[in-house]
Amino acid sequence: MFDIETSQGWPMPVLDDLNRPLFEGMKEGKVMVQKCADCNTWLAPSAFICEACGSENVPWVEVSGKGELYTYVVYHRAYAPEFESMVPYNVALIELEEGPRLLANIVGIANEDLQIGMALKPVFQEVAEGLPLLRFEPA
Ligand SMILES: [Zn+2]
Repeated sequence: MFDIETSQGWPMPVLDDLNRPLFEGMKEGKVMVQKCADCNTWLAPSAFICEACGSENVPWVEVSGKGELYTYVVYHRAYAPEFESMVPYNVALIELEEGPRLLANIVGIANEDLQIGMALKPVFQEVAEGLPLLRFEPA
């Protein structure tokens, strides 16, 4: 999804026209998702074409960020050295009330207390200077 640079030990996204609205939104505390303007399909970030209908009209739209835990995994091994200090950490699939599902970490709760279906809300955490990340916490 992103080319990688590092800052303060964190992989940093390289912004381009496809992903800039996602990261600019995070700086403003907004949860942004792409949605096809022609067929209303929610799309994974940085899509340049709709996977359902082929439309190139795939704008970013702001969503509430409220949702629930759809599923998750807990990583006990770091697959990149930058994340070794975070182990064990979760990676969750959150289903937003508007319908799309996003991948993110859940914070503010122990991994062993995570429960499928629990209500979540967005939280933005600055993990490196100039890089707020969208994460979720119990609502
Ligand atoms: Zn479409």
